[in-house]
Amino acid sequence: MTPELRELYQEVILDHNKRPRNRREVPHATHRAEGHNPLCGDHVVVTLCVQDGRIADVAFEGHGCAISTASASMMTEAVRGKSLEEAHGLFERLHAVFTGSEGANDFGELEALVGVREFPMRVKCATLAWHALDAALTASPEPVTTE
Ligand code: ZN
Repeated sequence: MTPELRELYQEVILDHNKRPRNRREVPHATHRAEGHNPLCGDHVVVTLCVQDGRIADVAFEGHGCAISTASASMMTEAVRGKSLEEAHGLFERLHAVFTGSEGANDFGELEALVGVREFPMRVKCATLAWHALDAALTASPEPVTTE
């Protein structure tokens, strides 16, 4: 990764952290899940409204480090309007990218998160909201944890 690219990615993360998209609660949510990352103290609540098999609305609340907040913000933008299968596919792809089994080409803005792959502790921050999303959509009744 070039220093220029690294800087650009940092700006994307800082921008999402400073002005998180969809930081609210979805009214009349059909799905909801909570996520905790005890290693860092991140806490996220993801709410969704699913209509006809598509994510009509998605939002997050909670508090955490810059990476967890930016990641949650990007997640809401990435999956809005997607079908449940597409959203699950995106989660699986992200997981594969973070575990290093897949490259991050054509991943759009989410590429900005991939730099944290070098810091295993931060990977949990970056994937927390995605785990919560997946738990919400698979209707897991237990709060998820990255442990
Ligand atoms: Zn964190």
